[in-house]
Amino acid sequence: MNPKTALQLKKELVTKQKELLNLQKLNQKLEGEPESELKDMADRSDAEEAWFTKERMSQHWKHELSQINTALYKMDLGSFGVCEECDSDIPVKRLRVRPDAALCLNCQESMERELGPTQRIIRAPSPTAESLH
Ligand SMILES: [Zn+2]
Repeated sequence: MNPKTALQLKKELVTKQKELLNLQKLNQKLEGEPESELKDMADRSDAEEAWFTKERMSQHWKHELSQINTALYKMDLGSFGVCEECDSDIPVKRLRVRPDAALCLNCQESMERELGPTQRIIRAPSPTAESLH
């Protein structure tokens, strides 16, 4: 990946990270204030619905944040945007959708063919002695 693109992506990720942190803060603030609009809702199911939406959003933000943190961490290490399997560049388009992508599309696809599409790929940080044999 050329350095200009990398810098642009990093800027985008940092901006997104800030947005997400702000959203989370806002969310926590609402939780901390009993006088929030949630309490004023006459209909209980509405309040529950709002609570579930809030929970779902908060899970979603956490997930996105962790992806961004992984990506920024890898940028510092210099391994961002490089496939862990074949060392080729991961397309920027793919990184915008999945900033923490560890594999290029080819490797991802062949991995999914091996494991089945529903299998989540969990990569160990480093191979253990046993797995090398
Ligand atoms: Zn690859």
